[in-house]
Amino acid sequence: MRGSWISLITLLAWAVSPAWGDEAKPRVYVILWFDTEDYILPASDDAALRVADFLTSQGIRGTFKIVGHKARTLESRKRFDVITALKKHEIGYHSNWHSTQPTPAQFTSNLEWDEGVAEFLRREGPGRDDVERIFGVAPTCYGQPGSSWCPQSYAACKKWNMIYLDAGRHVALDGLPCYYCGVFNLYQLTHLIRADLNKPELLEEANKRFAEARQKLLAQGGGIISIVYHPCEWVHKEFWDGVNFARGANPPASQWKLPSQKSEEETKLSYRIFADFVAFMKRFPDVEFITASEAAKLYADQARGKQFGPDDLRAIARAAAREVIFQKHGNLTLAPSEIFDLLTRFVSRRLADKKITSITFAGTPLGPTSRVAALTEPVTTDASQFERTCADVVDYVQYHGRLPGTVWLGSVGVPPEAFLRTVAEVTLKLLDGEALPQRLEVRPTPLAVVKYVAKEDPRLWSWVIFPPGMKAPHLMDVAQRQAWTLKPALLGRK
Ligand SMILES: [Zn+2]
Repeated sequence: MRGSWISLITLLAWAVSPAWGDEAKPRVYVILWFDTEDYILPASDDAALRVADFLTSQGIRGTFKIVGHKARTLESRKRFDVITALKKHEIGYHSNWHSTQPTPAQFTSNLEWDEGVAEFLRREGPGRDDVERIFGVAPTCYGQPGSSWCPQSYAACKKWNMIYLDAGRHVALDGLPCYYCGVFNLYQLTHLIRADLNKPELLEEANKRFAEARQKLLAQGGGIISIVYHPCEWVHKEFWDGVNFARGANPPASQWKLPSQKSEEETKLSYRIFADFVAFMKRFPDVEFITASEAAKLYADQARGKQFGPDDLRAIARAAAREVIFQKHGNLTLAPSEIFDLLTRFVSRRLADKKITSITFAGTPLGPTSRVAALTEPVTTDASQFERTCADVVDYVQYHGRLPGTVWLGSVGVPPEAFLRTVAEVTLKLLDGEALPQRLEVRPTPLAVVKYVAKEDPRLWSWVIFPPGMKAPHLMDVAQRQAWTLKPALLGRK
């Protein structure tokens, strides 16, 4: 009874959808991604081959995030048929070893930014290079093993020209695609849907969720549905790493055990459920399957290269004087660190030259990677000191590519968010043709944007591979300072 009722709803949802002929009409973009990681169970190679071939036969390009050691294993097993089939899709990267200990959130947990980035590159760089060598293409995206997330991996993504593609809630901007550390981030999304590959009775429910997500997204002007699988799920009864590396275990390769495998019938059923799920999604003319790099193009940052004139700067400064958070202006968004950079450069140049009325976007400086100064009550400074500090801060940001954790008003240190508010107020005065006030106040100011990066919470680290009691408070503190770089990514047109 319940089943037929749900069927009716999904059918109705389908029937009432208009066939969009117009390119400007909203579209629903489905990103199908596969964490291709099991280097232990040989049958998972066949599963990757079959899933890739099936999608190819459907005219769909998926995104296969490959583990470095999975790529090396395919090579050593001479599974060039699998490599060839996967190459017809987009290739991403999914860490070097995935679940051997320590995993990324652990090995960066006690490190500061720069050492964490270097350590991430030292451990994870060789796997990325192996994926490129074996597949003959540069991987386009990265996502962490399990919930082993770390902020420093975003610096690696930037260096490797990758987007971040995974699912988790360390950075969570209301379920929207966003930019973090200057990297396009598909992470905590509202519409993350899967059909259970083992329970045919749940397929209707997944179809219904898909149809509902589609309608919501169309009503919002379009958007992304993210769907994740692992090729090994078609053939195993339990994850390859759970049987070997659970709760901090780290046996040598000679002791790795095979996970138990599904029967042939069970595997067949999983392929059938997936084929039915794909067929359901494909029937909507406004649904389009895209890869990670296609998503990055759709959500390209419109702030890049933009010149901001007096009206733009006035709007930016007004909002920044109210709250230190990302801003949306027309079709573009600005992260707080970008606002800090734009306004300090504008004020500094304008004080030196009254003819300056605009400033060009120069990228996304990182948030502070040093300790942030505390400010509990207002401090005052004079015009000369403010002007000299402003020039020095501009130089600091250009030199270090990040905001200072302490802005020095002579011998008095203040946090960057407090300084930004004063700079925003000064911007408005200068744009109104007023002179720089002789006495300026810097007041305690909350970093409002920080709420979008999770605080340390044991539930962030509930992945079975972590050692029991896993905590990473320092890592989340480092991550929260990068909330400065956060902004929504807006859907443009191809
Ligand atoms: Zn994984």
